[in-house]
Amino acid sequence: MRPVVCYGPAMSTAPRIRVLGDHVINKIAAGEVVDRPASVVKELMENALDAGATRIEVEVVSGGRTLVSVADNGCGMGRDDALLSVERHATSKIRDVDDIENIATLGFRGEALAAIAAVSRFTMQTAEAGAEAGTEIAIQGGRMVEVGEAGCPPGTKITVRNLFFNVPARRKFLRTDQTELAQVRQIFLPYVLAHPETGFRLVVDGREQTNLAPGSGLDDRLAELYGRPFVAALRRVDHATAGVRVRGFVGLPQASRADRAEQYIFVNGRPAGAPLVLHALNEAYQTLLPRGRHPVVFLFIELAAGDLDVNVHPTKKEVRFRRPGDVRDALIEGIRAALGQSDGSSSASPLPAPAAPPPPAWTHPALSIPDLPPVRVFACPKMPAVPPPGAPEPDAAAEPKVGASGPAASAPWAWCRVLGQVGGLFVVLETEDGLVLMDPHAAHERVLFERFMREVTDHEVRSQGLLMPETVAMSAHDAEIVRRTMDLLRGMGFGVSEFGGDTFVVDAAPVVLGPAAMAEVLAEVARTLDEGGARGGTERWAQERIATAACKAAVKARDTLKLDEIERLVVDLAAARMPYTCPHGRPTLIHLGFAELHRKFGRT
Ligand code: ADP
Ligand code: MG
Repeated sequence: MRPVVCYGPAMSTAPRIRVLGDHVINKIAAGEVVDRPASVVKELMENALDAGATRIEVEVVSGGRTLVSVADNGCGMGRDDALLSVERHATSKIRDVDDIENIATLGFRGEALAAIAAVSRFTMQTAEAGAEAGTEIAIQGGRMVEVGEAGCPPGTKITVRNLFFNVPARRKFLRTDQTELAQVRQIFLPYVLAHPETGFRLVVDGREQTNLAPGSGLDDRLAELYGRPFVAALRRVDHATAGVRVRGFVGLPQASRADRAEQYIFVNGRPAGAPLVLHALNEAYQTLLPRGRHPVVFLFIELAAGDLDVNVHPTKKEVRFRRPGDVRDALIEGIRAALGQSDGSSSASPLPAPAAPPPPAWTHPALSIPDLPPVRVFACPKMPAVPPPGAPEPDAAAEPKVGASGPAASAPWAWCRVLGQVGGLFVVLETEDGLVLMDPHAAHERVLFERFMREVTDHEVRSQGLLMPETVAMSAHDAEIVRRTMDLLRGMGFGVSEFGGDTFVVDAAPVVLGPAAMAEVLAEVARTLDEGGARGGTERWAQERIATAACKAAVKARDTLKLDEIERLVVDLAAARMPYTCPHGRPTLIHLGFAELHRKFGRT
């Protein structure tokens, strides 16, 4: 006979299984919702917003471990509701499971207040507008210790003292006050961004840290938080397709960062993430940022509540989309449109009108260098610039169709002149506000890439037969990639066909590329497509990869540029939609402003 293993006093008849008391259950459940002061702030802010508050005041002491309080001027509660609100699974926000499908509020689980009250010394003062008196409730570690009337303004104030005073195991896991405070701020900020119509105040250890007036737009709120120069490097997104709306702001490539700290994404007003969104960001910025750089984004994705599942995670941080493809497309299209926008009028802060250029003469004749090539001044073709004296007409042949779309918010200068080339490579330019160094290869890649992609998008790639068809032998691996991509390549103007084995014949090439070695082009195409992995991306993704690779190979094939070619390039680059980086994301321009020069020379 097998022995019965029994834990507990031998031969005891007392049952070993117990139904846990509400206190214990609440404490355990609390751990899922509340794990640190910041999550208290989150839950209470969400409640305040759900209550329709137009002013919310958050106070923390010692990183929130001593005190967190959130006061709002929202709808408040009557006495009965106030008593119910601290029960588990008590909510005014849904009635039935089906309601979860159409959730419009931030909360709905009815767990937060009960959870917080279970692990702290909790007080709530609440009053409805017009009520004779408000209600005050005090709970300590889940036990109601006081219910009474309170004279308080309409709205709700919840104060949470000594978080986890009765859960030492949790308390031990709290970090330093500074770390906890940093977390609180990180929670606070997204709500502040998502609700510019609401006023927010943050008080830390008795001192006011933030005070934001209600009723501003997102751009004003961003400016209040980050300053105007930051906002100047953002472009407004507002795009809707297939039932998905994307709005907000995205950063120009030159404002990118090495981390994702300035990426704020909201789904139906709720700060939320989804891997899909990050992938879409990567794709939208594919040809604009080098690997390891991340754009600054403040994006609000809005879609029918039924197209979204927010009930994936107790803290609702991650959402699931019912139609992920549509969300992805809307994001990419919206961001692309914003970054390439040819009209500064919808940008957060359009560039100021170009200042009148200084006289192009040397101000100090003794310093003039007689050997410098003749200096010509170029007005940026996209800006309605006052052309500086002596500026040539923008070269019509050099200007792609983009000129028709009017001044670009992204034009890097109102006018400039080529001063020369250093190190046999870098081009030195003077512009209205300083000195610019340009990498002509990167610039050339950008210009070619945009021309090429424009032709591809408009389905009017100009292809030209090669005088001498080129035979290209490839490795088996690369040949496989080219074979897979053959149709796409043909659609992009490459006359490629199989020659047997792993060899191909190329008898035509896109005109934009100029005289480029097809062996180089195909090898580069295979290499970049391979980086995308077997899954690859959309057709557009592949086309951009191909164009990037082809332009790189084409530029490599060029000899050194002559002065008039450099001048042409400068004009073309200024007309580009995204002049600041090459399609691989490397910078094309380095700017040294007069302000910086003055500072460096101590001329303040
Ligand atoms: P949930 O937000 O998921 O409904 P909570 O435990 O956070 O659950 O809140 C329970 C209920 O208490 C809410 O549904 C709401 O009716 C009420 N409540 C909570 N906070 C506030 C507040 N600041 N103002 C008005 N009502 C509130
Ligand atoms: Mg809630």
